[in-house]
Amino acid sequence: MSEAKSLLNSFFDALVSAVYPRKCPVCRRVSGAIPCARCGQSLVRENFRFELPLPLVDEVRAFYSYEASAAELVKALKYRRETSLVRFMSNEMHDLFLAWDPEIDTIVPVPIHRSRLSWRGFNQASSLCERLPSHLVGQDLVRIRRTMPQVKLTPEERSANLVGAFRCPSDIVGKRVLLVDDVFTTGATANECAKALKEAGASWVGVLVFAVRRR
Ligand SMILES: [Zn+2]
Repeated sequence: MSEAKSLLNSFFDALVSAVYPRKCPVCRRVSGAIPCARCGQSLVRENFRFELPLPLVDEVRAFYSYEASAAELVKALKYRRETSLVRFMSNEMHDLFLAWDPEIDTIVPVPIHRSRLSWRGFNQASSLCERLPSHLVGQDLVRIRRTMPQVKLTPEERSANLVGAFRCPSDIVGKRVLLVDDVFTTGATANECAKALKEAGASWVGVLVFAVRRR
């Protein structure tokens, strides 16, 4: 980019910020940084790592507990479509991925149904893969039916709600798969995805999420 063009872009950004001051999507304070310094500092990396009694998911990793600011970030992205958070959150996913360094063949964002995609305009799980190795990110899972939002259901209803919701059309026999999502609470979504992946031959399914519900 030429210097003049870059100066013009900076001027335009400054003008937009002056007319529409950017607000932290978590606390709504005017802030240059997204999230603001105060919300950023309230996020504490806890390095969750567990193998669960879930039969199909092999391992789960997350930096954050799904509470306080971390939960607010997840909700702001997913329900309020605050895509300005993608840069920060995908950087965190990248750091976690590097810290874990799992041996994997493919990365699969948890898909959302096309009707929800057209309403939201983006898939938050795919957005969180933005800084992961792009040559590994595939679309090996498809959501073949629409389901109720999990957040409105009890743990028992969550599992039933998702039965048969995903399908893996790819050849992944013997492959190690990293599933990516924003949050892991009961594990029902990850487990149902892992079921489809393992039925298609995956040998291992790990889960990388921004936040987990504390156990
Ligand atoms: Zn804030």
